[in-house]
Amino acid sequence: MTATETAPVDSTALPDRAESVDERQPLAELFRDLRTSPSGLSERETARRRLVYGANELTRRGGRRWPRELLDQFTQPLAILLAVAAVLAWVGGTPALSIAVVAVILLNAGFAFVQEMQAERAVEALAAFLPATALVVRDGVRGEVKARDLVPGDVLIVAEGDRVSADARIIDGDVLLDLSSLTGESLPVSRSAQAAAEAGSLLEAHDLVFSGSTCTGGEATTVVTRTGMHTELGRIAALSQRVTTERSPLERQVRRATWIIAVVAVAMGAAFLPAGLAAGLGWTAAISFSIGLIVANVPEGLLPTITLALAAGVRELARHGAVVKRLSAVETLGSTTVICTDKTGTLTENRMRVTRLWLTGQEIDATAPATANDPRARARVLASAAAACTTAEAPSDSQPHGTGDPTELALLRLADELGVPTTPAERKKNRRAVFHFDARLKRMSTLDTGGDAVGDGDAATVHTKGALETVLPGCNRFLDADGAAQTLNAEARLALQQAQDRYAASGLRVLAVAQRALEPGQSIPDDREDAESGLTLIGLVAMADPPRKGVADAVARAHQAGMRIHVVTGDYGPTAAEIARQIGIGGKNGRIVTGAELDRLTDAELDAVLSGDGEIVFARTSPEAKLRICEALRARGEVVAMTGDGVNDAPALRHADIGVAMGRSGTDVAREAATMVLTDDDFATIVVAVDAGRRVFDNVRKFVLYIFAHAVPEVVPFLVFALSGGAVPLPLSVLQILAVDLGTETLPALALGREPAEPGLMDRPPRSRTAGVIDRALLFRAWALLGSVSAALVMGAFFFTLWRAGWHSGDPTGGGTPLHHAYLQATTITFAGIVACQIGTAFAARTDRASLFTIGLRSNPLLLWGIAFELVFTAAVIYAPPAQHVFGTAALSPAQLAVIAPFPVIVWGVDELVRWFRRSRTAPVAVPVPDRLVPSVST
Ligand code: ATP
Repeated sequence: MTATETAPVDSTALPDRAESVDERQPLAELFRDLRTSPSGLSERETARRRLVYGANELTRRGGRRWPRELLDQFTQPLAILLAVAAVLAWVGGTPALSIAVVAVILLNAGFAFVQEMQAERAVEALAAFLPATALVVRDGVRGEVKARDLVPGDVLIVAEGDRVSADARIIDGDVLLDLSSLTGESLPVSRSAQAAAEAGSLLEAHDLVFSGSTCTGGEATTVVTRTGMHTELGRIAALSQRVTTERSPLERQVRRATWIIAVVAVAMGAAFLPAGLAAGLGWTAAISFSIGLIVANVPEGLLPTITLALAAGVRELARHGAVVKRLSAVETLGSTTVICTDKTGTLTENRMRVTRLWLTGQEIDATAPATANDPRARARVLASAAAACTTAEAPSDSQPHGTGDPTELALLRLADELGVPTTPAERKKNRRAVFHFDARLKRMSTLDTGGDAVGDGDAATVHTKGALETVLPGCNRFLDADGAAQTLNAEARLALQQAQDRYAASGLRVLAVAQRALEPGQSIPDDREDAESGLTLIGLVAMADPPRKGVADAVARAHQAGMRIHVVTGDYGPTAAEIARQIGIGGKNGRIVTGAELDRLTDAELDAVLSGDGEIVFARTSPEAKLRICEALRARGEVVAMTGDGVNDAPALRHADIGVAMGRSGTDVAREAATMVLTDDDFATIVVAVDAGRRVFDNVRKFVLYIFAHAVPEVVPFLVFALSGGAVPLPLSVLQILAVDLGTETLPALALGREPAEPGLMDRPPRSRTAGVIDRALLFRAWALLGSVSAALVMGAFFFTLWRAGWHSGDPTGGGTPLHHAYLQATTITFAGIVACQIGTAFAARTDRASLFTIGLRSNPLLLWGIAFELVFTAAVIYAPPAQHVFGTAALSPAQLAVIAPFPVIVWGVDELVRWFRRSRTAPVAVPVPDRLVPSVST
């Protein structure tokens, strides 16, 4: 059915409010009310309407959220724990400590809040990388526009895979609609222009489509009736379009670890109380030291720092063309073990060019220039049949790249080059019906009048194109060398098969083209099977779609990083295998498994196929096959990144650990189901994302190591004091500990979260799915190595300072005693020594295995700034008289400073030696890398 023609657009008399339009009135009246026509609005008119109706987007309700989020920081369990400590300190008679603890709470909450807001903003900003688009007709020309620019009256085309961007009335065609986001009903419903008028709610109307629903099949032309907050979606939900920021496994792990440490800290604080009393401290002092221990050891800032590191990863990924929708995806990416990728557009350029044509007894190089004696008459029949069977639109002035499927664009270009161009208007005029391309059937058909094959007036012709093996069963004849239709015999079938294999062997994509002229007066078949039978095969079209630049390198890097790559494609096996071979996928144990073979495999057999170390080309797969492969791989414990672009790929995308959709060529449905969207559709970006994922995880480990390491030199002084029964004065005051926690630790920790990747990051095998961020090796390095060395150094400096002043065990050092100033200097040197050791720890933590020299001292400028701040802060605490008063410090002499000056180098040097020892003991990680070029892939 075609749309009702109406009067030309009158742009002056617009309905004031979109609600005043009755979308169920007869079409002619609707067009009149909306002041539009089937050829759409003019650009100028749409600009005017945008001013009247506003942008087509949902505005978020709920007002400001930040006050609540800030408040949330104070109700965190750790903050409450610290608040209890502050109250105890107050009650225990040490108001200065109480105030300091409150300062810790405030500063931490402020920091956490700022970090979380930043993380949230980073994720929300991603929406800008993925602007929703819509296909509209304006000024009679089809074109893509941003969905937010739709206005009532726009003629909107809705096709399979699209997310509908506005409420609209169908004027032509029919679609299957998934309305689950509006009605909760998960079964798709059919909507068409021919629907009879009926009562009931708007959502039940059979000729309306709604913003927020998705089209799972068919294609329809519609006229937009409502946009933005006036749509049903806007009305029902007033949804806030926030991206989910649920806790990632990494954050959960760290949260658990934080709790364990908090419990240990509280236990330690509680244990210090009797020990302190026994060592001769009064109640007040003992309580305040217990509190100091707790505050020192509770890693309050860890979680927000991790969230921020993940968010920074998300932001960086977006800049590299990979938009992830959950923070947690960043860390999952790092442990990816298998990538299942489709071929067309991801591994290849998706810029098809027809290079060969096959007709019985004749092969034509489609790239050669036409000659005077051109034997291409039959080729024109092939090209015009193929071009008739398309919905794409060739490039034009308004759409320089054309719109639609690149396969079809290549066919339109071929027809044009052969002198049988097909214009959209002509094609539309002749078109009687379309059976859209179906990823399962792998073919498409149209019923058209006019064209070469039709002899008589209005009689229609079926045009079919698709994979040879799915078109051939519908054919009973073929065109022979003279262009006459003959019965399709075994010999012709063999010739076709051989031609396809020959083309496929050089990586060409092959399409069979067939047609059937209906008898004059014969009714148009509405059943697909009916239409696609009794066909005459015209010939084959082979097109080149070369691998993308950079993909071979990315494949090599993925192999080096211990990942396997399976190709899951709808294309013909040998074609896909050749492309795979060209870019290094496959190797010695590679094989092709076709969709039909896959269907025959039992689950156990599939497991056996996947358990080998070879890479597999799954060819001619159905979308369901993707899900099955994904499930089988996950059941084997693999972490799977799976690409997909069609509506039917959505389940597999959801099921994979990382569902990857294509930003340019993919459907909205796939993009919504995916965890990561590639804005450049490029396979290489997946490998870049894995790299980034690994780096973020590594960096989290770096700052966890850094933060954990300083606990030892903070706790040991208290232990020495307690164990000596008071014979050794306290080497560190509580407020000095707080100065470390508050002033010197935070910035370098944040900077470690931004470390560039360590060399060899992508030479390691993937991290195991179960490997925790905090493992035994990390704890050993933090506490037994870096922490212990630091503790030994600072205690050494403390005793050395006291000893130089003439102190002996048990000598009094309190206020008014001759040794008091020396004691203040000694505690100051403990404090400054801890800061010095932290600097060494920060440099050591920068690498896990590699030497610091391989990454360079200055490759993380943020860390250098962080350390500079740390030094200035420490100098202020030591030398500024008011700070001396608060923190109980005394100025250090140059000679005393010289004692602690080598500490950073010693701490880092010991760790550097241990890393060197580890590197020399363990050979470089051997990753099985599949051989690249292997001539044949078994079928
Ligand atoms: P991949 O799954 O790797 O993206 P693909 O694009 O080849 O590969 P499909 O789009 O599912 O996968 O196509 C499968 C087959 O269907 C193609 O090999 C081709 O034979 C046929 N085909 C593809 N596009 C069309 C089309 N527009 N019309 C008719 N047949 C098509």
